Amino acid sequence: MRPLRPAVFLDRDDTLNVNAELPPEAWAHTKEGDLLNPAFVRLIPGALEACRRLTDAGYVLVIITNQGGVARGGGAPRDIDACNTALRALLSPADDDSANIPDPFRASLVTACYSAPHHPSGDVHPFNNEHHWRKPGPGMIESAARELGLDIPRSWMVGDKQRDLDAATNAGIPPTRTILLAPATPTPDLTAAADRVLASAIDPAQTTRLTLRAASGAPLADERARETVIATARAIAERTGVRLIELDTAADSVTITLATHRLGALGFLAELRRLTNAWARARSGAALWPTDR
Ligand SMILES: [Mg+2]
Repeated sequence: MRPLRPAVFLDRDDTLNVNAELPPEAWAHTKEGDLLNPAFVRLIPGALEACRRLTDAGYVLVIITNQGGVARGGGAPRDIDACNTALRALLSPADDDSANIPDPFRASLVTACYSAPHHPSGDVHPFNNEHHWRKPGPGMIESAARELGLDIPRSWMVGDKQRDLDAATNAGIPPTRTILLAPATPTPDLTAAADRVLASAIDPAQTTRLTLRAASGAPLADERARETVIATARAIAERTGVRLIELDTAADSVTITLATHRLGALGFLAELRRLTNAWARARSGAALWPTDR
């Protein structure tokens, strides 16, 4: 028997492909948000590269998606399949520009898609009911694990809704392996989520955790300041190749965990302090952090 493989379960809409930002024409025949037209399947920037890195690291990628629009009469299960096929084609392993030309015959980075067409307030039989496949039900993940031979305790879930994460924990994925994508958090998108998944394989002895405390007051209670600190840390990580494992902000501090030794982490923190202080001084005349340490 083949050993079980770890997976990254991915929500579809607004995790891999654009949904909330689609033009009004996308909803000509459906309720807004019910994406059942493959012509409007568009990748979120960075999603392809994030999927490539995860599969390179040995994770099986499985899409699990609620598509209650079918229960609401917006389309048929074949329309879900058409969208999933278009998305899988865009998520091609080919490392060239042709990756953005949908080709259903090309292998995909995504091994399988599971969709739940059900919705309890729909009126299309037999989908107008609650169903254990519909997130936060665990059904899609359980079926995928069984059919594809997946190792649930070593798997991850990434989605933009709490119910995505609940489906995962209901299926037995550890809560520490569920990632919510949300603006102005350390995981705004799939790129950041992939960083976190890949960082989990790092030896804890090779990581350093450091905190930067405000000179006074609670400057990170200001949302723009907080967002700037997070974005700057991510930019430094990208530029230096030092992996940013975790970033936590409080009103008066930022704590970062880096996959590097203490000296490297101190250099990272000094750069974060220098750049964000320069930004804050230009904005309000006051530095965020003390400059004498
Ligand atoms: Mg979603």
